[in-house]
Amino acid sequence: MTEIRVATFDGPGADPVIRTVPRPAIGPKAALIQIGACGVCGTDLHILKGHWPKPLPWPFTLGHELAGVIVEIGAELTTDFMGKPIGVGSKLMLPPLMPCGHCDWCLHYPETANKCLTPVYYGRYLGFDRPPHLWGGWSEMVYVDLEELPGTKIYKLPDAMPLRLGALSEPLTSCIRAFERAQRVNGFAWNATVVIQGTGPIGILAVAAALEMGAGRVISVGAPESPRLQLARKFGAEATVNIEEITAPADRIKAVRDIVGGYGADLVMDCSGHPTAGPEGIEFLRDGGTYVEMGQFTDAGSIDTNWHRICTKDLNVLGSWAFTANDLPKGVDMLWQARDRYPWLDMQTLYDFSEQGISDAVADAIAMRTVKSTIVPNPALLEG
Ligand SMILES: [Zn+2]
Repeated sequence: MTEIRVATFDGPGADPVIRTVPRPAIGPKAALIQIGACGVCGTDLHILKGHWPKPLPWPFTLGHELAGVIVEIGAELTTDFMGKPIGVGSKLMLPPLMPCGHCDWCLHYPETANKCLTPVYYGRYLGFDRPPHLWGGWSEMVYVDLEELPGTKIYKLPDAMPLRLGALSEPLTSCIRAFERAQRVNGFAWNATVVIQGTGPIGILAVAAALEMGAGRVISVGAPESPRLQLARKFGAEATVNIEEITAPADRIKAVRDIVGGYGADLVMDCSGHPTAGPEGIEFLRDGGTYVEMGQFTDAGSIDTNWHRICTKDLNVLGSWAFTANDLPKGVDMLWQARDRYPWLDMQTLYDFSEQGISDAVADAIAMRTVKSTIVPNPALLEG
């Protein structure tokens, strides 16, 4: 085989075109991977609908949920990213977004290196100026060259793993990370009741991840019944709520809460990407629950709100309502320990205990003429 067929798109809305590229000469740290299976991801669909917020190097080859077999490998490429030995015949997967590991962001914030400033990414192989790239799994083969792009990360799959199963490893990893994010803020305890919004591939994989990671109950909210809700139940969702049958958000909230019972769900995870999923999903939760937004990963579809920014910025957004009983001594201690470090009393404007005094205290506070209107019923107590 001297030529390799790759599927490319000329731009959003275009039909796929099968083109050929020459079979590359393999560099010492490179490998040619024959693709067995490659999924179609929601990201691909967004790209093909023109939703991607940044310029893309059309025409190019999509497909980043790939699993394949090494057919040719350079002499110096002997292990995968984790140090496992690889060679011709090894099964591999590689992710779409690979942190470079050495940019300013990667150095300062390795724990969120997924926001790397210079990731190895689609079309980076051979540069954006040389399409059609031999990169992207909707093709017969993918070429990786760790000399040209040292940030490239390849991962060995178990020898006995079917490539179809391997092709699910990338999207499943996204689900695992999302639940680990919740675990880190004590938002996903063992036996938790979990509601998953969305029954696309991520929503289905999230059912499995939730159960594997300790959920006691999982409820899926999505559509359509066939094939998606049926599969959610087959994966272990105890119940499903069909958003095509129950169209009003208030009714869906009631339906979910009736299933969950008690005070509401412990954890809700949005895998739907629907712009209004967040405000609705929050109402599935009990007070004190945890919401994970992983569905809204592009700027598309939520132009009216900045809710998607929670996902795209990989944020922790925390609610904080007043305090609990154990907190109060901290307030007392801070005031006492820092009594000379801040002009605490300059906050206060004092009013005497009379109808006029209280009326003025309130009126001045409303008008923002004071910072902290403070009523003094017994002035003698403030002396000394
Ligand atoms: Zn980086």
